[in-house]
Amino acid sequence: MAATDSELLGSAVTGTSRAVVRTVVGMPTSDGAGVKLTRVIGTQALSYLDPFLMLDEFGSDDPAAYIAGFPSHPHRGFETITYMLDGRMRHRDNHGNEGLLTAGAVQWMTAGRGIVHSEMPEQEQGRMRGFQLWLNLPSGEKMRPVEYQDIEPHKVPVVELPQGGQVKVIAGHFDGVRGPAPERTTQPVYLDVRLTAGSQFQSAIHIAKSAFLYVYEGEVSVGPGSGHAVTAPKLAELAAGDYVQVTAMKDARFLVIAGIPVREPVARYGPFVMNTSEQIHQAIADFQQGKF
Ligand code: FE
Repeated sequence: MAATDSELLGSAVTGTSRAVVRTVVGMPTSDGAGVKLTRVIGTQALSYLDPFLMLDEFGSDDPAAYIAGFPSHPHRGFETITYMLDGRMRHRDNHGNEGLLTAGAVQWMTAGRGIVHSEMPEQEQGRMRGFQLWLNLPSGEKMRPVEYQDIEPHKVPVVELPQGGQVKVIAGHFDGVRGPAPERTTQPVYLDVRLTAGSQFQSAIHIAKSAFLYVYEGEVSVGPGSGHAVTAPKLAELAAGDYVQVTAMKDARFLVIAGIPVREPVARYGPFVMNTSEQIHQAIADFQQGKF
């Protein structure tokens, strides 16, 4: 097992600053029963950022864009992580779990060997905004039992930055603070950062991890030297290195997401993500026979 970010804590950020490899703009699409969203990972431009299979941003003040929600549908072979910025979403699944995600809440759902769930807005007006990230599971863990965790807003620690801004620690570590997400083989990092114009953010990200930023408000400069400008809404894939350094050119908000790549073949078909097409056929058969 590779060293963890926590081993780098307690010392100043040292080593190589991660540069921007490329930036990617999300693609407008709709999913579920017609929810309008922006797909950032899981498109032709960026099909997979190992170990992350998908990143969707949803956000609208118009109920027509979200009201239909995501009625009953299956998943197998990975995890979905939903982070709400605004609005309320009700989760129900066939394993008896139910949860209400409110602004600032995180839902960590391990589909594992199979789940059927619905994700429905619990509001008829106002703003609905958030993200859903799909985290792959290594082959040996794809058929693990279903797990469901509701992480309430107050359980997500907030670190205030001295220069102005704050960091919400959802998964991994920042500045000695650990997020509430479960431990995983891929050691995921998930930070939500808010910076005021001119302020800086630095965080160690272990060199074994792939990493990206998703800038969803404002403009930042990323990396060594004069940096690489990234304007919202845009994903910036980061090169290998020991830490990431971000300066806000304007007031900005962005996600910092990282994890150890799985480095295995990916066979995906809609809500199923396995290693081989045989396993996909098996998933479809098992779902149709009610084995989820
Ligand atoms: Fe789902």
